[in-house]
Amino acid sequence: MSHDVLGELRAGAEDFLLLIISSPSGAGKTTLCNRLRAEFPALAFSVSHTTRTPRSNETDGREYHFVDVGTFRRLVSEGAFAEWAEVHGNYYGTSFAEIERAREANASGILFDIDYQGARQIRAKVPEAVAVFILPPSMDELERRLRGRATDDEPTVQKRLSKAQKEIENYALFDYLVVNDDLDRAYDRLRSVLLAESARRARKALLAEGLLRHGRVSIP
Ligand code: ADP
Ligand code: 5GP
Repeated sequence: MSHDVLGELRAGAEDFLLLIISSPSGAGKTTLCNRLRAEFPALAFSVSHTTRTPRSNETDGREYHFVDVGTFRRLVSEGAFAEWAEVHGNYYGTSFAEIERAREANASGILFDIDYQGARQIRAKVPEAVAVFILPPSMDELERRLRGRATDDEPTVQKRLSKAQKEIENYALFDYLVVNDDLDRAYDRLRSVLLAESARRARKALLAEGLLRHGRVSIP
Protein backbone atom coordinates (compact mmCIF):
# COMPACT_ATOMS: atom_id res chain seq x y z
CA MET A 1 0.00 0.00 0.00
CA SER A 2 1.53 3.35 -1.02
CA HIS A 3 1.28 5.89 1.78
CA ASP A 4 2.35 8.56 -0.64
CA VAL A 5 -1.12 8.95 -2.08
CA LEU A 6 -1.71 12.28 -0.30
CA GLY A 7 1.71 13.54 -1.42
CA GLU A 8 0.84 12.55 -4.99
CA LEU A 9 -2.41 14.49 -4.72
CA ARG A 10 -0.41 17.62 -3.90
CA ALA A 11 2.09 17.16 -6.71
CA GLY A 12 1.57 18.85 -10.06
CA ALA A 13 -1.72 19.95 -11.64
CA GLU A 14 -4.32 17.89 -9.83
CA ASP A 15 -8.01 17.82 -10.59
CA PHE A 16 -8.99 15.30 -7.94
CA LEU A 17 -11.30 16.95 -5.38
CA LEU A 18 -11.05 16.08 -1.70
CA LEU A 19 -14.36 17.19 -0.19
CA ILE A 20 -14.73 16.97 3.58
CA ILE A 21 -18.17 17.28 5.16
CA SER A 22 -18.49 17.57 8.93
CA SER A 23 -21.19 18.53 11.39
CA PRO A 24 -22.29 17.91 14.93
CA SER A 25 -24.08 14.57 15.07
CA GLY A 26 -27.71 14.92 13.99
CA ALA A 27 -27.31 18.10 11.89
CA GLY A 28 -28.06 16.16 8.69
CA LYS A 29 -24.64 15.46 7.21
CA THR A 30 -25.39 11.86 6.24
CA THR A 31 -28.68 12.88 4.61
CA LEU A 32 -26.93 15.61 2.60
CA CYS A 33 -24.00 13.35 1.68
CA ASN A 34 -26.38 10.66 0.43
CA ARG A 35 -28.03 13.20 -1.88
CA LEU A 36 -24.64 14.29 -3.20
CA ARG A 37 -23.65 10.67 -3.79
CA ALA A 38 -26.87 10.03 -5.71
CA GLU A 39 -26.47 13.11 -7.91
CA PHE A 40 -22.70 12.87 -8.42
CA PRO A 41 -21.82 9.17 -8.75
CA ALA A 42 -18.36 10.06 -10.12
CA LEU A 43 -17.51 11.36 -6.65
CA ALA A 44 -16.29 8.40 -4.59
CA PHE A 45 -17.36 8.05 -0.96
CA SER A 46 -14.68 7.28 1.60
CA VAL A 47 -15.87 4.33 3.70
CA SER A 48 -14.25 4.83 7.11
CA HIS A 49 -13.23 2.19 9.61
CA THR A 50 -14.97 2.36 12.98
CA THR A 51 -15.14 0.44 16.24
CA ARG A 52 -18.77 1.60 16.74
CA THR A 53 -21.52 -1.06 16.72
CA PRO A 54 -23.42 -1.10 13.38
CA ARG A 55 -26.93 0.44 13.40
CA SER A 56 -29.75 -1.77 12.15
CA ASN A 57 -29.78 -0.08 8.72
CA GLU A 58 -26.01 -0.28 8.21
CA THR A 59 -24.03 -2.86 6.23
CA ASP A 60 -20.36 -3.65 6.70
CA GLY A 61 -18.35 -2.17 3.82
CA ARG A 62 -21.14 0.23 2.76
CA GLU A 63 -21.48 2.85 5.54
CA TYR A 64 -18.35 1.74 7.42
CA HIS A 65 -15.81 -1.04 7.73
CA PHE A 66 -16.80 -2.25 11.20
CA VAL A 67 -13.78 -3.56 13.14
CA ASP A 68 -12.95 -4.36 16.77
CA VAL A 69 -10.65 -2.16 18.86
CA GLY A 70 -7.71 -4.59 18.50
CA THR A 71 -7.93 -4.52 14.71
CA PHE A 72 -8.25 -0.73 14.70
CA ARG A 73 -5.14 -0.33 16.88
CA ARG A 74 -3.19 -2.71 14.66
CA LEU A 75 -4.15 -0.67 11.58
CA VAL A 76 -3.02 2.53 13.38
CA SER A 77 0.34 0.96 14.23
CA GLU A 78 0.75 -0.20 10.62
CA GLY A 79 0.22 3.39 9.43
CA ALA A 80 -2.91 2.42 7.47
CA PHE A 81 -4.81 5.66 8.23
CA ALA A 82 -4.60 9.06 6.54
CA GLU A 83 -6.37 10.35 9.66
CA TRP A 84 -8.07 8.85 12.68
CA ALA A 85 -9.71 10.12 15.86
CA GLU A 86 -11.75 9.09 18.86
CA VAL A 87 -15.30 10.40 18.45
CA HIS A 88 -18.07 9.86 21.04
CA GLY A 89 -16.03 7.08 22.69
CA ASN A 90 -15.33 5.08 19.50
CA TYR A 91 -12.46 5.11 17.03
CA TYR A 92 -12.97 6.25 13.46
CA GLY A 93 -10.40 6.45 10.67
CA THR A 94 -9.90 7.04 6.96
CA SER A 95 -7.57 4.47 5.39
CA PHE A 96 -5.10 5.36 2.66
CA ALA A 97 -6.57 2.38 0.82
CA GLU A 98 -9.94 4.20 0.46
CA ILE A 99 -8.26 7.17 -1.23
CA GLU A 100 -6.22 4.89 -3.48
CA ARG A 101 -9.34 2.95 -4.41
CA ALA A 102 -11.04 6.18 -5.52
CA ARG A 103 -8.00 7.22 -7.55
CA GLU A 104 -7.77 3.82 -9.24
CA ALA A 105 -11.48 3.96 -10.11
CA ASN A 106 -10.86 7.30 -11.87
CA ALA A 107 -13.33 9.06 -9.58
CA SER A 108 -13.60 12.85 -9.94
CA GLY A 109 -12.88 13.20 -6.24
CA ILE A 110 -13.65 11.72 -2.87
CA LEU A 111 -16.18 12.68 -0.22
CA PHE A 112 -15.21 12.33 3.44
CA ASP A 113 -17.89 12.27 6.15
CA ILE A 114 -15.52 12.84 9.08
CA ASP A 115 -15.39 14.97 12.23
CA TYR A 116 -13.42 18.19 12.77
CA GLN A 117 -10.37 16.31 14.11
CA GLY A 118 -10.20 14.30 10.88
CA ALA A 119 -10.80 17.45 8.80
CA ARG A 120 -7.86 19.10 10.56
CA GLN A 121 -5.56 16.12 9.89
CA ILE A 122 -6.48 15.84 6.19
CA ARG A 123 -6.09 19.60 5.71
CA ALA A 124 -2.65 19.48 7.36
CA LYS A 125 -1.57 16.97 4.69
CA VAL A 126 -3.52 18.35 1.73
CA PRO A 127 -4.31 22.07 2.22
CA GLU A 128 -6.23 22.05 -1.11
CA ALA A 129 -8.88 19.77 0.42
CA VAL A 130 -12.22 21.59 0.65
CA ALA A 131 -13.99 21.46 4.00
CA VAL A 132 -17.69 22.14 4.60
CA PHE A 133 -19.34 22.32 8.02
CA ILE A 134 -23.08 21.70 8.30
CA LEU A 135 -24.84 23.70 11.02
CA PRO A 136 -28.26 22.92 12.51
CA PRO A 137 -30.65 25.91 12.55
CA SER A 138 -30.85 25.70 16.38
CA MET A 139 -29.70 23.51 19.24
CA ASP A 140 -33.33 22.57 19.95
CA GLU A 141 -33.75 21.35 16.38
CA LEU A 142 -30.48 19.40 16.66
CA GLU A 143 -31.86 17.59 19.70
CA ARG A 144 -35.16 16.89 17.89
CA ARG A 145 -33.30 15.40 14.91
CA LEU A 146 -31.06 13.25 17.07
CA ARG A 147 -34.09 11.81 18.87
CA GLY A 148 -36.16 11.60 15.68
CA ARG A 149 -33.50 9.48 13.99
CA ALA A 150 -34.32 6.83 16.63
CA THR A 151 -31.18 4.82 15.96
CA ASP A 152 -29.34 5.65 19.19
CA ASP A 153 -30.21 4.93 22.82
CA GLU A 154 -30.71 7.77 25.34
CA PRO A 155 -27.13 7.80 26.78
CA THR A 156 -25.77 7.94 23.22
CA VAL A 157 -28.10 10.86 22.33
CA GLN A 158 -26.96 12.69 25.51
CA LYS A 159 -23.29 12.08 24.73
CA ARG A 160 -23.72 13.40 21.18
CA LEU A 161 -25.63 16.49 22.34
CA SER A 162 -23.04 17.37 24.94
CA LYS A 163 -20.30 17.17 22.28
CA ALA A 164 -22.15 19.41 19.82
CA GLN A 165 -20.99 22.69 21.39
CA LYS A 166 -17.32 21.65 21.18
CA GLU A 167 -17.73 20.55 17.57
CA ILE A 168 -19.40 23.82 16.56
CA GLU A 169 -16.59 25.79 18.26
CA ASN A 170 -14.30 24.34 15.58
CA TYR A 171 -16.21 25.96 12.71
CA ALA A 172 -13.17 28.12 11.82
CA LEU A 173 -11.35 25.04 10.44
CA PHE A 174 -13.81 24.98 7.53
CA ASP A 175 -14.02 26.84 4.20
CA TYR A 176 -17.82 26.79 3.97
CA LEU A 177 -20.66 26.80 6.48
CA VAL A 178 -24.02 25.45 5.31
CA VAL A 179 -27.07 25.82 7.56
CA ASN A 180 -29.33 22.79 7.21
CA ASP A 181 -32.69 24.44 7.92
CA ASP A 182 -34.81 23.40 4.97
CA LEU A 183 -33.29 20.26 3.44
CA ASP A 184 -33.75 21.28 -0.21
CA ARG A 185 -32.26 24.72 0.37
CA ALA A 186 -29.33 23.29 2.31
CA TYR A 187 -28.70 20.74 -0.44
CA ASP A 188 -28.69 23.51 -3.07
CA ARG A 189 -26.03 25.37 -1.09
CA LEU A 190 -23.92 22.24 -0.72
CA ARG A 191 -24.06 21.27 -4.39
CA SER A 192 -23.16 24.88 -5.30
CA VAL A 193 -19.97 24.46 -3.27
CA LEU A 194 -19.16 21.22 -5.08
CA LEU A 195 -19.82 22.72 -8.54
CA ALA A 196 -17.84 25.91 -7.83
CA GLU A 197 -14.90 24.01 -6.36
CA SER A 198 -14.88 21.58 -9.32
CA ALA A 199 -14.62 24.56 -11.70
CA ARG A 200 -11.56 26.06 -9.97
CA ARG A 201 -8.80 26.95 -12.41
CA ALA A 202 -6.25 24.81 -10.56
CA ARG A 203 -8.46 21.75 -11.09
CA LYS A 204 -9.26 22.56 -14.72
CA ALA A 205 -5.86 23.80 -15.93
CA LEU A 206 -5.23 20.61 -17.94
CA LEU A 207 -8.43 21.20 -19.92
CA ALA A 208 -7.19 24.61 -21.07
CA GLU A 209 -3.80 23.11 -21.90
CA GLY A 210 -5.54 20.37 -23.90
CA LEU A 211 -7.49 23.00 -25.83
CA LEU A 212 -4.28 24.88 -26.64
CA ARG A 213 -2.35 21.78 -27.68
CA HIS A 214 -4.99 19.57 -29.28
CA GLY A 215 -7.80 21.96 -30.16
CA ARG A 216 -10.24 20.40 -27.70
CA VAL A 217 -10.63 20.25 -23.95
CA SER A 218 -10.57 16.45 -23.60
CA ILE A 219 -8.00 14.13 -25.12
CA PRO A 220 -9.56 10.83 -26.28
P1 ADP B 1 -25.85 13.32 10.86
O1 ADP B 1 -25.30 12.44 9.77
O2 ADP B 1 -25.33 14.71 10.77
O3 ADP B 1 -25.69 12.74 12.23
P2 ADP B 1 -28.50 12.63 9.75
O4 ADP B 1 -28.32 12.88 8.30
O5 ADP B 1 -28.53 11.21 10.23
O6 ADP B 1 -27.43 13.48 10.62
O7 ADP B 1 -29.84 13.40 10.18
C1 ADP B 1 -30.36 13.32 11.50
C2 ADP B 1 -31.90 13.25 11.42
O8 ADP B 1 -32.39 14.53 10.97
C3 ADP B 1 -32.41 12.22 10.42
O9 ADP B 1 -33.56 11.60 10.94
C4 ADP B 1 -32.74 13.05 9.16
O10 ADP B 1 -33.77 12.47 8.40
C5 ADP B 1 -33.19 14.38 9.78
N1 ADP B 1 -32.92 15.56 8.95
C6 ADP B 1 -31.82 15.83 8.19
N2 ADP B 1 -31.92 17.04 7.59
C7 ADP B 1 -33.11 17.56 7.98
C8 ADP B 1 -33.80 18.80 7.69
N3 ADP B 1 -33.28 19.75 6.91
N4 ADP B 1 -35.00 18.99 8.26
C9 ADP B 1 -35.54 18.06 9.08
N5 ADP B 1 -34.96 16.85 9.38
C10 ADP B 1 -33.75 16.62 8.84
P1 5GP C 1 -21.66 8.17 13.36
O1 5GP C 1 -21.30 7.27 14.51
O2 5GP C 1 -22.90 9.00 13.66
O3 5GP C 1 -21.73 7.47 12.04
O4 5GP C 1 -20.46 9.22 13.22
C1 5GP C 1 -20.03 9.93 14.35
C2 5GP C 1 -19.02 10.98 13.93
O5 5GP C 1 -17.82 10.36 13.48
C3 5GP C 1 -19.50 11.88 12.78
O6 5GP C 1 -19.15 13.22 13.11
C4 5GP C 1 -18.68 11.40 11.60
O7 5GP C 1 -18.46 12.44 10.66
C5 5GP C 1 -17.39 11.01 12.30
N1 5GP C 1 -16.58 10.10 11.48
C6 5GP C 1 -17.00 9.11 10.67
N2 5GP C 1 -15.96 8.53 10.05
C7 5GP C 1 -14.85 9.18 10.48
C8 5GP C 1 -13.45 9.04 10.17
O8 5GP C 1 -13.01 8.20 9.40
N3 5GP C 1 -12.61 9.89 10.82
C9 5GP C 1 -13.05 10.85 11.69
N4 5GP C 1 -12.13 11.64 12.23
N5 5GP C 1 -14.35 11.01 11.99
C10 5GP C 1 -15.24 10.17 11.39
